[in-house]
Amino acid sequence: MALTVIGSVALDSVETPFGKRKDVLGGSATYASLSASFFTPVNLISVVGSDFEEKHIKMFTKKKINTAGLERKKGKTFRWKARYHYDLNYAETISTHLNVFEGFRPGIPPCVKEKDNLLLANIDPELQSWIFRQIKPRGLVACDTMNLWITHKKKALLKLLKKVDLLLLNDAEARQLSGEKNLIEAAKYISSKGTRMVVIKKGEHGALFFCGKLHFIVPAYLLETITDPTGAGDTFAGGMIGYLSGKKKITDSVLRKALVYGSILASFTVERFSVEGLLRTTPKRLKDRYNHFERLTRF
Ligand code: AMP
Repeated sequence: MALTVIGSVALDSVETPFGKRKDVLGGSATYASLSASFFTPVNLISVVGSDFEEKHIKMFTKKKINTAGLERKKGKTFRWKARYHYDLNYAETISTHLNVFEGFRPGIPPCVKEKDNLLLANIDPELQSWIFRQIKPRGLVACDTMNLWITHKKKALLKLLKKVDLLLLNDAEARQLSGEKNLIEAAKYISSKGTRMVVIKKGEHGALFFCGKLHFIVPAYLLETITDPTGAGDTFAGGMIGYLSGKKKITDSVLRKALVYGSILASFTVERFSVEGLLRTTPKRLKDRYNHFERLTRF
């Protein structure tokens, strides 16, 4: 099944204890699409400005990501500036400039079908809801979010959760959204709002999964080099729903494997700045890391 991804395509300026980069390719939809493309055809819906380089669009096409829904508008591309300290689980946002995203309401290209799965990658929940209403998806709907939207658009986010099958968020966001300190209680609160499946990401400590009686813990892949954690969460989300999109039937075992692939793909992202880690990943390197992950976690 194909996957539609809507979210930000951005130019990021990032500083970590291991170096810095200015105006490099980023954005929630960028990471999620690249990650999902390992498993399924992806239709990307987003917007960029006139300053967005053609080479990035060519890169998406090379990765078989359909950019018919990637609009180019007069103005500046979305920009995000952030700094990480030695606790790489926490990004200090220095600035967010929505630019061409301000008031953006995309057209839906004909390649996007109701029956496809949909990933509402991190962006304003009002825009996520709007897209949902336009597409009227019948497939699996996943949604990612962040603290900014929980602080400023909580009502819109809670309304959206009624329509979402899978919500992904990090531990601090889960606590902020639910008002619960304990993550099991936080997941219960989120499920009570209508979302059947909840993934709580814990950065380098892996992720927790809750779906009814199925609880699953997935570690992060053990790495010697972490350079830039930007996009790890989006990569996880894209990998997970991308893997599910490639399967005919979703069983407990398929769900567990989807989480493992999400975790492994995120490990490629954090090894390098921007999308460099993902672009160097091949299906063989992914499979090798999957096999190694199995050996690391078996007992
Ligand atoms: P992550 O590290 O997975 O949480 O996501 C980082 C990516 O999200 C960066 O590439 C940013 O461009 C993008 N991003 C940051 N803030 C926002 C926002 N408010 N809306 C949409 N995307 C954002």
